[in-house]
Parts: sequence; C-alpha cells; structure tokens
Amino acid sequence: MSRVLVVNAGSSSVKYQLLDVHSAAVLASGLIEQIGEREGRARHTTGGADFSATRPIPDHAAAFALLAAAFADHGPDLETDPPVAVGHRVVHGGTRFQAATVIDDDVLATLHDLTPLAPLHNPANITGIRAAMASFPGVPHVAVFDTAFHRTLPPAAYTYAVPPDWRETYHVRRYGFHGTSHQYVSHRLAAILGRTDVAVVVLHLGNGCSACAVLDGASVETSMGLTPLEGLVMGTRSGDVDPAIPFHLARTAGLTIDELDAALNKASGLKALAGENDFRTVSARAAAGEPDAIAAIDVVVHRLVKYIGAYAAVMGRLDALAFTGGIGEHSAALRAAVLSRLTVFGVELDRAANDDARGETRVTTDGSGVAAYVIPTNEELQIAREAMALLRG
Ligand code: ADP
Repeated sequence: MSRVLVVNAGSSSVKYQLLDVHSAAVLASGLIEQIGEREGRARHTTGGADFSATRPIPDHAAAFALLAAAFADHGPDLETDPPVAVGHRVVHGGTRFQAATVIDDDVLATLHDLTPLAPLHNPANITGIRAAMASFPGVPHVAVFDTAFHRTLPPAAYTYAVPPDWRETYHVRRYGFHGTSHQYVSHRLAAILGRTDVAVVVLHLGNGCSACAVLDGASVETSMGLTPLEGLVMGTRSGDVDPAIPFHLARTAGLTIDELDAALNKASGLKALAGENDFRTVSARAAAGEPDAIAAIDVVVHRLVKYIGAYAAVMGRLDALAFTGGIGEHSAALRAAVLSRLTVFGVELDRAANDDARGETRVTTDGSGVAAYVIPTNEELQIAREAMALLRG
C-alpha cells in the first residue's frame, strides 16, 4: 500500500510513473505524446519490457483511457494493488497553494482562477487532472506545486519594485519554479553533507533552467519569477533582460505583445545565440571550435557565475553547490566551465571525478573551498512522497 501514480500533464503530452514510495522503485513509466495531433504516440514500460503504440489520441481523456488500458494489459495490476494516490505536477500554485493539496472541485476552481499567472501551463494541468480523475476514480488525487517550495522566500526576495496596484490587484511578485526539484536535490545534498544547517545553491539546468539558494533547508532566493522566463539563459528562453527591451522593440520594430512573448519564450536563449536549443549539440559544436556555439556557452556560464556569486552574498556564506537537470547531470564541460570560474570561493574542480560523474558524485577536490556535487533530480519521487505524506497526515 505504498504505490503512487505520478502524472505530469502538458498541453499535448502526459508523462507518468507508478512508484513504490518506500523502496523508491519505479514499477511502470511512460509517455503519451502528440495528443490532439493526427498521430499520437504512447509508450509504456513495465518490468523491463517496453510497449508502444501509434494511434490518434484526440484529447487528454483518451490519453488517460490509454494509460489505464496499458496497466490492464501489461501490468502492474492496479486492481489488486491500487495506488494510494495519484500525484499531479502543477506548475503554478500562486500564493493560494503553499503545499501539496488534495484535489476537489474547489481546488480545481481555484486552480482555474490562477490561469492568468500561468496561461501556458495551468490549463493543461487542469485538463490532465480532470481526465485522470475520470480514469482513476475512487483514489485521492493530490496536486504538488512547482512554486510551493519557494513559499519561504522572504519579502525582500519576492517583491518587485513596481506600483502597488500591480502587486496587490494583479499578484505580481516572484513565485519561483522547479520547486519540487530544488527541494529534492537540496535535501539529498544536506543528507550527503550530513547536516541540515547548510547554505547551498542548486542549479537545475534542463530545457528550463533555474538557480535556487537554499539556507537551512528553505528556499530564500530563486531565479525564476512571476513566470519561468526570468533568470538564467535557457534552451529557448532569454532569462534576464532589461525590461525596457520589449518597449524598445514595440516602438521601433512594431512587435506586438504576442510576438514579444513568443520571441522571449520560444526563440531566445541558446536557440537565439547558437541557432539551436539542444545543449548537447551546442556543446559539441563549441568543442569543435565553432565561434557561435562558444559565445553562446560563454553567455550561459557568465549568467550562472553571476547568480552563484549573488546567492552566496544573499546567504552570507556558501557551503555547497549542486548541479541537476539534463545539462547539470550530463555536461561535464559546462560544470567545469562554471566551477573553474569560482576561484573567489576557493573552488577546486576534481577533473577526473567531474569527467566520470555517474549518479550522485562529488566533483570538487577534498580541499575545495566549496563542495560541488552532481545530484540527479527525481521530481516524480518527490511528488509521490509529498502526496503520501499528505494522505498519511
Ligand atoms: P527538461 O527541462 O525538459 O526536463 P532535461 O532536464 O531533460 O529537460 O534537459 C534537457 C537538456 O539536457 C537538453 O538541452 C539536452 O541537450 C541536455 N543534455 C542531455 N544530455 C546531455 C549530455 N550528455 N551532454 C550535454 N547536454 C545534455
């Protein structure tokens, strides 16, 4: 009785894992994608075997029906050992949801009210939740929010210096995202260090990238803001820019709000600087000496170094750093570039450990002024644990 089905519903995809919370074992996992397109794709993995299908998947209801059928056909058996909960990743909880919450009609209505804060993400999450509740009735469904770990941000960190009406009526403030990952990784880091009173910076570097300063287990600063656009340079998002740039382009190039939004969210970042957003390819091109790719990675590294320095100053000290996400976990070159720029903290890269890092690995020498680790994130396990903890009181 410790199985939790974890669901991450996007606008055209549903990712899921069935986990045993006690052993952290993944009993089944899969991805249903291209929902609403002419040809949908579904993959289900259980007991080491893969099952895949290509067929039209018109909507999320069809996706969850397919998911339920995959369990019935290939296992594991949900009838005799049903999940104790379905945990849903929800991107934006606003200030209303500061912790995991059992979903009912009121919660769904409040989530709907939060849509203006996350127009790209929350509607897909809500559609996914409704479809999952229909396909898996009789099980509590729990929402786990990307923003919740950042509930401890102090006012000085979450307040933007903007007119009072923006803050009070339109809820403009820093919320922060990737909270589930920052929480999981910072807790793992504290466990490795054997202390909870640590000042750490977690760098979640995937398609989206964010940094989080975690002091004594609590998020005290983070780089994403009202939306996931602010902060580090990402795959297709600019991260920090002068907020007057959009006005400048509206006035001089005649760009509309939607064009500016699309440009900064979908056509900026690595994609704008290096022509593509896949870090692995850009990194290979940089290694081969391509100037565009080298310059793009320089911008990425510069921004990371700037944030790490700022966060150390905000916390008053820096005990450890953690790299996670696809890039953080797999790019030894990026980690080496960042760590070798941190001489002000006495950081000393352990080149061999960094090159060979697999799983949780220390990548700095024993004498390094600040310890740095690779810590693979596990958002699904964190969501499952939070859902279980909530239900067990
Ligand atoms: P998401 O944010 O969508 O969950 P991931 O955390 O999987 O994304 O990160 C995706 C990014 O990680 C991509 O830019 C990809 O190129 C990069 N990546 C994955 N493996 C490697 C690798 N071996 N070396 C460099 N970058 C990698």
